Amino acid sequence: MFKPESIDLIFLDLDHTLIFGSYKELPELNLMFKYGSWLWVYERPGAIDFARRVCQIAPTFVYTTAMKDYATQAVSELAFKPQNIFTRENCLRVGDAYRKSAKHVGHKVTCSTLIVDDSPEVWSVEEIETCSLLAPKRWMGEYDDSVLYEVMSHLR
Ligand SMILES: [Mg+2]
Repeated sequence: MFKPESIDLIFLDLDHTLIFGSYKELPELNLMFKYGSWLWVYERPGAIDFARRVCQIAPTFVYTTAMKDYATQAVSELAFKPQNIFTRENCLRVGDAYRKSAKHVGHKVTCSTLIVDDSPEVWSVEEIETCSLLAPKRWMGEYDDSVLYEVMSHLR
């Protein structure tokens, strides 16, 4: 496990790491916003505190394969201030899939770079093997999820 004081750059994912977009209403969860008329976007338990804590550790960039307006709204609802928000248009397109690359957005991954992402496989293998990785279990809207609280206890 990395030490927070050794980290100088962070890439933070949104979907399934901090939020979940559901096509049906899930009343037991914390609704952040409705995207269009069909998608309910929920806060993962502890996500607001988690995002704030992450930003205290080092300069933080959101990096998501989602659309820009969706990501911007999610960050606003999560009430934190990343240095920038990289979205689908900042991803590499490989067939039908979107891949993330720090290099592609003008950054170099070192062992002091922390990637927080439930899906490490969307990153380049080279960057994932170089960075410090925090891969919280993929959140699919389970109301009793406590993963971010567990992770936070290691970030103090
Ligand atoms: Mg994700």
